[in-house]
Amino acid sequence: MAKRVFITGIWHETNTFAQGRTGLEAFHAYQYLEGDALFAAFADTNTEVGGAMDAAVELDLNLIPGLFAGAVPSGLITASAYEALVRRSLELLAAAGQIDGVLVHLHGACVVEGAPEADAEFLAAIRRQLPADTPVVATFDLHANLSDALIKGADALVGYDTYPHNDMGERGAEAARMLHRMLWSTRRPAKILRKLPFAPPPQVQGTAAAPAAAIMAKMHDMETWGEIWSASIAWGFPYADVAHLGVGILVQGDDIAHATRVADDLALTIWRQRGDFDAGLISVEAAVHSAIAAPHGPIILVDVADNAGGGAPADGTTILAELLDQSARDAVIVLCDGQAVKTAKAIGVGAMFSGNVGGKSDDLHGPPIPLVGEIIFQQPVRYRRRGDYMTGQQIDLGEIAVIQADGVTVMLTEEKAMPFDADHLAAAGIVAEAQKIIVVKSAIAWQAHFRAFAKGEIYVDTPGVCASNLKRFTYTQLTRAVYPIDNDGVWPATNA
Ligand SMILES: [Zn+2]
Repeated sequence: MAKRVFITGIWHETNTFAQGRTGLEAFHAYQYLEGDALFAAFADTNTEVGGAMDAAVELDLNLIPGLFAGAVPSGLITASAYEALVRRSLELLAAAGQIDGVLVHLHGACVVEGAPEADAEFLAAIRRQLPADTPVVATFDLHANLSDALIKGADALVGYDTYPHNDMGERGAEAARMLHRMLWSTRRPAKILRKLPFAPPPQVQGTAAAPAAAIMAKMHDMETWGEIWSASIAWGFPYADVAHLGVGILVQGDDIAHATRVADDLALTIWRQRGDFDAGLISVEAAVHSAIAAPHGPIILVDVADNAGGGAPADGTTILAELLDQSARDAVIVLCDGQAVKTAKAIGVGAMFSGNVGGKSDDLHGPPIPLVGEIIFQQPVRYRRRGDYMTGQQIDLGEIAVIQADGVTVMLTEEKAMPFDADHLAAAGIVAEAQKIIVVKSAIAWQAHFRAFAKGEIYVDTPGVCASNLKRFTYTQLTRAVYPIDNDGVWPATNA
């Protein structure tokens, strides 16, 4: 008879430096699904649930839906919101009747008020409600900050192997296959976690490029050596002030001594190369100067500190101020500023805009900047992504206003624009290829589209809650030293 597998998940990448709290409404606004709606939403998608659904058909598993709640990266989650999600998940588990196994989809860098290890607490709560021998398999994001408590909470765990993330479906299927193996035997893998005092910024974690690509290839090779069930490297999310911040290497296999050797080898490989994970940041003044001086454009100025997809407000003004100061020509920047859009809407296309733009959500991303220019576009913008990334996703930017301030085009939006493609610019009549300078508020997701035609890229040392320069942050929970927050980390004695 088909084994009954309960599937549930809570997903959030929490930026503890971001201002404001993440409440239940943020999950309902982005992703909140339970019961059959969960399967309807995720069928045939490249997501953990979608992958698990495909594998379940192949393996003859009877999936029983719990819930899946996800919110876009943002500040600390309120205790009441998280408690409500966990409580509801446990209620659905209780109502599911007899269950043979559980799949749990987590982020691994979820931080709640008073609960720095929220993902681990969720797993522990599920575990408490099950007979001791019921297998539990969890998935986590490549940006997870792994901890002993998290690893202890499941019989096996599987992490994404790619960034930008495009293997969620494969990992969901892998988790289902590992669970299936445990449903039909009493075997469980030995789990070895190695943590490094190393926290590279996401900007240099891309798995298709050096130095991470070769390390991931080595890990995949070691996974085929036999006796290894699964290996994962979680590169960590450094914008969380938690004690367990940093790179984690998880190896699971039949033979604990062999798994330990593999984990230690990978840990040492990464540690020796830590200096190669250099963000290569250029000051704002020098970056704008070289973009203006470049013979051909577009030159991409990457404002990674104000990464719209990493919990930042996407209204940072540091680069805009410098573009105006240095009288840049054919430059375009997008700022999320609903208030300025309203001002522009009131006076309409063709009128002169005069007001402060950006820098309104907090005091970490530069001050509001006085801007004077003609309103050349104003209307609501809605479109479907055409690029390779999140293809078909429906985007609603709300009301838009485009201000032409001499050589600088400022696109103001009501909602944050994630620059996975140039569709948002095109929707407002801006031709990306024709620009000399394009500012993107992104870590590496922008590369998929803009690199194809850009003539250069500069990562700019701007302030903000997603800054690649980690020395800009004050960490209070870490056991120092941690590289590159400190000039060197200390190889932990337990890993010697
Ligand atoms: Zn991630």
